[in-house]
Amino acid sequence: MSELYQHRARKRFGQNFLHDAGVIHRILRAIQPREGEHLVEIGPGQGALTAGLLGSGAQLDVIELDQDLIPLLKLRFGLEKRFTLHQGDALKFDFASLGDKAHTLRVVGNLPYNISTPLIFHLLDQAGLIRDMHFMLQKEVVERLAAEPGSGDWGRLSIMVQYHCRVEHLFNVGPGAFNPPPKVDSAIVRLVPHAELPHPARDHRLLERVVREAFNQRRKTLRNTLKNLLDAEAIEAAGVDGSLRPEQLDLAAFVRLADQLAAQAPAP
Ligand code: SAM
Repeated sequence: MSELYQHRARKRFGQNFLHDAGVIHRILRAIQPREGEHLVEIGPGQGALTAGLLGSGAQLDVIELDQDLIPLLKLRFGLEKRFTLHQGDALKFDFASLGDKAHTLRVVGNLPYNISTPLIFHLLDQAGLIRDMHFMLQKEVVERLAAEPGSGDWGRLSIMVQYHCRVEHLFNVGPGAFNPPPKVDSAIVRLVPHAELPHPARDHRLLERVVREAFNQRRKTLRNTLKNLLDAEAIEAAGVDGSLRPEQLDLAAFVRLADQLAAQAPAP
């Protein structure tokens, strides 16, 4: 393939192409795609994961932003009936347009690290369509996604993602598996949207607001960081100790604070 087509990795598209066959195999084994399933790959690049995903017999849609990679992807996979190529930005992609039943889409990708957080939030907006997601991300981001309350990694990302999904940090991948090698370690994470939310908030936008406000100053007490939203009495009414710092609170406690805010404020 490289003789036919030479692609220069582009930094602005976050291009670090996987070339380690052992790592590619391990990722595919973690995903376990099967015939009859519907997968969406974000950023197929030169097709390192795409070939194995299609080889399983699954139906595969891929979304690639870099126009220069489109001819190569068409050449490699274009004749395959179960393959659909979308050229565009995954951040703007309407996953509902794929017309799937609830909780069936399987989303995968070795993601460009510069868009991974907004992309995960974009996908969480459509979590009802998704069965699971497997992503390669910066290891540090995976640690934040999978963090537990009380740890230094526990914050807005952990809470908002764990509100919607079960998170599993599967394994780490060193820079040598990529070409060119990134400057940071990477990891594979599995996100499984909950069939039913374990701690549903009355209004999830208020949960976002409380969490953002609380972690704006993570060293301060909740009484202090939340003073523009909830007074000491309201915090207590939510069953929360206002002298704690935000990182000491679990998801259920943040949901109680958001519900307290919903009870006192008319919906925006
Ligand atoms: N999957 C390939 C692999 O593992 O070798 C490529 C991974 S590379 C880290 C990220 C890929 O995402 C690149 O092909 C890049 O062009 C593509 N990409 C970057 N931004 C994107 C976006 N907003 N939407 C869709 N694809 C994007």
